[in-house]
Amino acid sequence: MNKEALFRITYGLYVVGSAHEGRINGYISNTVFQVTAEPPQVAVSCNKDNFSAGLIAGGRAFSVAILSQEVPAGVIGLFGFRSGKETEKFSALPYLTTPGGLPVPRDHVLAWLECRVVQQIDLGSHILFVGEMTDAEVLRDEGTPLTYEWYRRVKKGATPRNAPSYTGEEPPDGGGSLYRCSVCGHIYNPAEGDPDSGIPPGTPFEALPDNWKCPVCGAAKRDFFPLEEK
Ligand code: FE
Repeated sequence: MNKEALFRITYGLYVVGSAHEGRINGYISNTVFQVTAEPPQVAVSCNKDNFSAGLIAGGRAFSVAILSQEVPAGVIGLFGFRSGKETEKFSALPYLTTPGGLPVPRDHVLAWLECRVVQQIDLGSHILFVGEMTDAEVLRDEGTPLTYEWYRRVKKGATPRNAPSYTGEEPPDGGGSLYRCSVCGHIYNPAEGDPDSGIPPGTPFEALPDNWKCPVCGAAKRDFFPLEEK
C-alpha cells in the first residue's frame, strides 16, 4: 500500500474556531467540506485529543475561516502546532467574532462560515462534526484559497500529528543540507532560506542568526537537527 496516494487528494487548509464556557480556540483543519447544499451543511473532522473537540462538542457550533494562500506560516504554526490547552491562540492576532460568538482570524482570510452542529459521528481517533450553516461572509473578493498541497509543496509545510492526513511521511525535500524542526517537522532548506523572516535563499543553516525561530511553530534554532541523507 502506497500512502503517497493519499497526498493526491486535494484539500484546503482552514482555521476551525470554537467557543464554549468563555473559552475560544481554533485549530488548523484540512478536512472541511460541504456535504449538502439545501440546507447548506459542512462537515469537519477533529482529533479527539484536540482541545477544540471538547469546545465544539460543548458549544455545539464551529466557525470555518477560509485562509488565503499568502497566510504566513506562523499562523499555520499558531493554530496547527500549539494546543489551546496551554495557549490562548486568539490573543496572538486580531480576530473578529461571528454573530454566534465564534472567533475568526481577521487577516489572511477570504471568507468565513458559522455552523451549528447537527450531528457528530465517532470515527475512533476523530469526531466528525456535521454543521448546518447559520451565517457566512466573504471578506475579500481577490486572493486564492490556501490548499494543503500548496502549503506542503511551496511552504514545505509539515502535517500536525493530530491531522487525519498525518502518515508519518517526510515532506518533500529540495536537496542540500536540510535541517528539521524537532517540534513540528518543518524542514529548513538553505536553497530557499526563510523569506518571511528576511533570510535570503542560499543561507546555510549555520549562518542563521541565533534568535532565528522555526517559521511554522516558533521553536528555537537549537531545536533543529540535520536531516539524514537518504
Ligand atoms: Fe517547528
